[in-house]
Amino acid sequence: MTDRGPLRWQEAEIVGITPVTERVKSVRFRVDFADRFVPGQHVDVRLTAPDGYQAQRSYSIASAPEASGTIELMIERLDEGEVSGFFANVAAIGDRIELRGPIGGAFVWTERDGGPLLLVGGGSGVVPLLAMLRHRAVAAPDVPALLLYSARTRSDIIAADELQARACDEPGFTLRLALTREPGGRRIDRATMDEALARLGRPAHAFVCGSNTFVSAASDLLVDAGVPPRTIRTERFGGSLTG
Ligand SMILES: Cc1cc2nc3c(=O)[nH]c(=O)nc-3n(C[C@H](O)[C@H](O)[C@H](O)COP(=O)(O)OP(=O)(O)OC[C@H]3O[C@@H](n4cnc5c(N)ncnc54)[C@H](O)[C@@H]3O)c2cc1C
Repeated sequence: MTDRGPLRWQEAEIVGITPVTERVKSVRFRVDFADRFVPGQHVDVRLTAPDGYQAQRSYSIASAPEASGTIELMIERLDEGEVSGFFANVAAIGDRIELRGPIGGAFVWTERDGGPLLLVGGGSGVVPLLAMLRHRAVAAPDVPALLLYSARTRSDIIAADELQARACDEPGFTLRLALTREPGGRRIDRATMDEALARLGRPAHAFVCGSNTFVSAASDLLVDAGVPPRTIRTERFGGSLTG
């Protein structure tokens, strides 16, 4: 966590790069805190150009602390995106990238927090929720959890196979997809939220993550559905794109 004074930058080696969807890549780094973070936390990444120009961005950790030795980030390529473009087109295994973390103390869940656990993600906003689900499967498989995940199309679903497998194999985990740009698709709306809440029961914790507009819309729906605001935690990735 962040209570040991200012976090230091470290040079972290890229040990794996794997395509996840057409626009998202999984990038694995070897870091010294790989088993010392809490699901939901993020890291800062800093790139420095030869002329000294620096760009710094935040990326959520997708892996669970049980994944030994490395952390996984999932980075979506944005049009004209300075840092996401670097990871999409330039970064290679063996590169050493400046990184600091883990960061964040509010948007986190551990087995001690219990459930029911409602996770609402739009687009790449699913990444920290994936870390929570991966941790839950190992540390607290009895905690009821539901992921309501909005993506554009079926091929934009991050970790699609893993999520489907978890939904099949893990009692107590339910996956609900809202595909906004598939024929007949829909955004997360009042009916979707009501159905999710009926299925899960009243959540002890609700985590909402995605673009600014997604987080605002989804949190409003939760409050309208009677979920107490003190149980809702949000993480905004910026931008206005929704899932
Ligand atoms: C706590 C936190 C965690 C994050 N975790 C992740 C993650 O796990 N995966 C991930 O892919 N991103 C994540 N982000 C977003 C990330 O930090 C960058 O903002 C994103 O990669 C864009 O940076 P860029 O340099 O590529 O784009 P920029 O060069 O900064 O911007 C390019 C264009 O995209 C627009 N834009 C910037 N950010 C967004 C956005 N999030 N959505 C839509 N449009 C945007 C800008 O307005 C601009 O027009 C997270 C952000 C925060 C604050």
